Amino acid sequence: MSVSYWLDRAKARSPQRVDAVIIGAGIAGHSSAYWLEKEFPDFKIAVLEKGLRGSGATGRNAGFITCGSVEHFSRLVQTHGEESAREMWQYSEKNLSLLKEELNLSLDKHGFEQKGSFSLASSEHELKELKESALLMKKLNISVEVLDEKECAQRLGCEGFKGGVKYCDDASINPLLLIDEIHGRLSPHVSFYENHEVFSIEKKGQTRLVRTNQGSFEADVVIMATNGYSALLHPFFKGKIEPTRGQILATEAVAPFMEGPSYANFVLDYFRQLPSGELIIGGFRQLDKQGEVGYSDETNPIIHSALEKFIEDHLPRLKNKKITHKWSGVMGFSFDGQPIIGSLADDPQVYFLGGFTAHGLGLAFHGAKTLSDILQGRSCPEFLNARRI
Ligand SMILES: Cc1cc2nc3c(=O)[nH]c(=O)nc-3n(C[C@H](O)[C@H](O)[C@H](O)COP(=O)(O)OP(=O)(O)OC[C@H]3O[C@@H](n4cnc5c(N)ncnc54)[C@H](O)[C@@H]3O)c2cc1C
Repeated sequence: MSVSYWLDRAKARSPQRVDAVIIGAGIAGHSSAYWLEKEFPDFKIAVLEKGLRGSGATGRNAGFITCGSVEHFSRLVQTHGEESAREMWQYSEKNLSLLKEELNLSLDKHGFEQKGSFSLASSEHELKELKESALLMKKLNISVEVLDEKECAQRLGCEGFKGGVKYCDDASINPLLLIDEIHGRLSPHVSFYENHEVFSIEKKGQTRLVRTNQGSFEADVVIMATNGYSALLHPFFKGKIEPTRGQILATEAVAPFMEGPSYANFVLDYFRQLPSGELIIGGFRQLDKQGEVGYSDETNPIIHSALEKFIEDHLPRLKNKKITHKWSGVMGFSFDGQPIIGSLADDPQVYFLGGFTAHGLGLAFHGAKTLSDILQGRSCPEFLNARRI
């Protein structure tokens, strides 16, 4: 990111002094403020956001709170081994239990439901992999159920899948109401500055100077919660966090028919029915991989045609129902599919929380707790540690 001499309004004013600056007001920024304040109640914290709170991926996602990662469990085991795969799964399980314990989530107030989630197989080959995953998970006492083709149709109202698995403990939510809940719990020590785009973080003796289009801030600790946009602000993230677009559509409401949210086709595509009856359907990034890299939130006609075709092929109850919204958002995919948490090697006063690789709701709240642990000198699981890069 660059800034012109004229737009650098920060240069004329003296910086505001705070204890910590958090850059980005999505789920990661809100969660960081929450845990930081809990651990350091006297801290003065400024949260700087270039748009509005939640205007990044957090306000544009599908609301699945799922455990694990972007791939089937058997692949996680193949890549990392059984013990590490279990550790990764448990980390996201803990995320959900922390959300429930700390925030008292409910259907009425947050659209929160814990009905499990499904992963459906589009081919016999995928079904075999899902069954292998289920076996491994049962061995590790993870609650999972295998479904055949008929059960998928009966319980989810969808056609054309060979079978699937249910991850019994997963949940879903309205993601904006989730961050509003966190926001409402913060004290006046935490101030949010919307429409403040950060363009540089500079070393200034023992502190860091954070310059924005509207003024500057000086702090001992800076937390970047900038997700897919991170490489625009800091060169460290080039090649480590890839800005990757996701596309979604929403339909008008129909009578409830779906037992829970579902992924399909190797976790690439997904759909869910909201408590109010509307359907949300997303995915198909695989159809235009190159076109879906970048920072714009344009909709992609190739992918939206595929989403509409998905309705025709798999969701007969939505026949002739109106599509009410189409949108996209930018996700932060990390180089190894796992989040990145901790301070940067070239500046230990600048911390990062992100790279959730399409799973921020399933990881960021616990991730922010881990970040506050790191700030207190406690250790961080190796698979998340920013120093692994
Ligand atoms: C279409 C889609 C569907 C998804 N579905 C799911 C799902 O069902 N479940 C799930 O867990 N995850 C899902 N995700 C991913 C999830 O939304 C993200 O993992 C999560 O929101 C990341 O949160 P964040 O706070 O790190 O990022 P963001 O919400 O993107 O927040 C980062 C913020 O930083 C701000 N920012 C960036 N640069 C600057 C700067 N220089 N100065 C000031 N502010 C800055 C941005 O404006 C933004 O608001 C989906 C994402 C998309 C796009």
